[in-house]
Amino acid sequence: MKFNIAVVPGDGIGPEVTSAAIEVLETIAKKYGHEFVFKTYIAGGGAIDKFGDPLPKETLEGCINSDSVMLGAVGGPKWDNLPGKMRAENALLGLRKGLELFTNLRPAVIQPALKNASVLRADIAEKGCDIMIVRELTGGIYFGERGRSEDGNMAFDTEIYTVPEIERVARRAFEIARKRKSHVTSIDKANILESSRLWRDTVHRLGEAEYPDVKLDDLLVDNASMQIIRDPSFFDVIVTSNMFGDILSDESAQVTGSIGLLASASLGESQRGMYEPIHGTAPDIAGKDLANPLAAILSAAMMLRYSFDLTEEADEIDKAVSDVLLDGWRTADIKDPDATTWLKGSEMKQKVLEKLL
Ligand code: NAD
Repeated sequence: MKFNIAVVPGDGIGPEVTSAAIEVLETIAKKYGHEFVFKTYIAGGGAIDKFGDPLPKETLEGCINSDSVMLGAVGGPKWDNLPGKMRAENALLGLRKGLELFTNLRPAVIQPALKNASVLRADIAEKGCDIMIVRELTGGIYFGERGRSEDGNMAFDTEIYTVPEIERVARRAFEIARKRKSHVTSIDKANILESSRLWRDTVHRLGEAEYPDVKLDDLLVDNASMQIIRDPSFFDVIVTSNMFGDILSDESAQVTGSIGLLASASLGESQRGMYEPIHGTAPDIAGKDLANPLAAILSAAMMLRYSFDLTEEADEIDKAVSDVLLDGWRTADIKDPDATTWLKGSEMKQKVLEKLL
């Protein structure tokens, strides 16, 4: 099969980790007889320097016309204090908006080899953690009406959701659950918030009508935040609002032990998605070959799974990463108290490639 992939390496360690992910995809393409055509676009700080615009029109159009987008990370101290529209992060917001991405997927997995790197107690980590957080990305309190009184003594933000907004993200969650353990936990604050009561009613109506084979339960967000550290093995797929998802996905990330291992995806109505590691541009280690490429590599595997439906190929990449870690290889960012030697980023990539050959 042939796919056109738009690559936006971005700044800092972005180019290092995306080029590792491209090598992995090229190896998989050769093995399975696919053709991946990569086209590179500029965005973020580099684009500000060159064009005075963090998201040049050609980049956005190239991404819109691709089958999927692979992003590194954007930003850095050089551009952090620029005003408004000139900020590097606007490239991300512009891409999300332009590609109409309303769902964010954040897997939180404790790799079997890294149970000691988890912040959780050993007996809890031992039970495993493989959660897919499905977060609504373009609605809720981050986009609702907000304001401040003239005297500055009062401010407000509005949590607002419509039934179609809830249905489309819940549908994604149910579909993903069918490819996993068929269990969705919807998280809200329905004991207090009217918008949460609408959320809960809508998710249940959809589940009963279209996904009766998927087990559905609810948790209040305060309880959910406790359960994620008390017994993460309870969860399969979590679906939740923009703000709750923002907080719970960072909490779950901590449970897994390293920022350099965490992938993410943003999806819209079409098959096309944007795939990126959750980490930033890590200016402190950029250009030193210290960046862990595994999060970018796992993001590429998500692209194969969720945009191209290449499940076997995605499984193979996931397994290669898991096996390299089981063999004992570590990069410096992995908080593993048992590790004695550390690989450079390019050496870690090489270990993964060797597993795929
Ligand atoms: P960061 O994720 O870049 O770095 C945090 C810490 O984690 C640093 O010590 C860094 O060295 C380390 N780290 C991150 N990724 C790593 C990897 N793959 N391997 C090894 N170590 C890794 O977060 P930050 O320092 O808060 O932000 C730096 C810049 O990145 C800022 O300009 C910020 O705006 C930007 N940023 C961009 C994105 C994005 O593009 N999606 C996300 C977060 C931050």
